[in-house]
Amino acid sequence: MKIILDAGHGYNTAGKRSPDGMREYEFNRAVAEGVKDLLDSYKEITVFTAHSDERDVPLKERTDKANQLEVDCYLSIHANAFETGWNEVRGIETYIYLTKPKEAAELARKIHNSLISATAMKDRGIKTADFHVLRETKMTAVLVECGFMTNREDAALLRSTAYRKLCAEAIVKGLQEHYQWKKKDNFPAGKPAAEKGLFRVQAGAFRDRKNAEKLAERLKKDGYEVFIYQDK
Ligand SMILES: [Zn+2]
Repeated sequence: MKIILDAGHGYNTAGKRSPDGMREYEFNRAVAEGVKDLLDSYKEITVFTAHSDERDVPLKERTDKANQLEVDCYLSIHANAFETGWNEVRGIETYIYLTKPKEAAELARKIHNSLISATAMKDRGIKTADFHVLRETKMTAVLVECGFMTNREDAALLRSTAYRKLCAEAIVKGLQEHYQWKKKDNFPAGKPAAEKGLFRVQAGAFRDRKNAEKLAERLKKDGYEVFIYQDK
């Protein structure tokens, strides 16, 4: 079968970044690359990409390519945003087209459940939307929003290599559950792609944000990926 991976936007797309400057495309692209690498271990899959590191490929060009190649599955990878500053809206949501095409709904459910189970992120559910990539594709199309760039905790995860890898593994696990691909002979069956849950280690809790920032700075210098999370 043929699948096309669509990392949303481009490096320099205006607006598509977190309040502290992470570009959405960096995340989308890293997850797409991770998915592509993992798909390589399965038999009889040809992987295409709709995006480019050089430019923000117009949506029509992306869906035209998928339609011309007659791929079987269109997978669009994104990170979400709510307004422009930091806020409390967070979690993962997955989209299919308004008409709830049966096959897309089933695939979306498998990918979405796999993402939620692997990441333990807030589950915002499977939704429908009149997005170009869902409407103009002639094949099964699903769009994932893997967390909010405008939420401090989500954004810290979206930046991290570990979370990107976890998302890629979870997406492939959902795809595999749906399409029942066989591993290539030279690839050992191995362990299940995604371990359950994301384990977070807390290094400190403070009343004063400044003290939290001090510790975060020290850990950053030591090479850790750090985020500060304000608990109500
Ligand atoms: Zn996006």
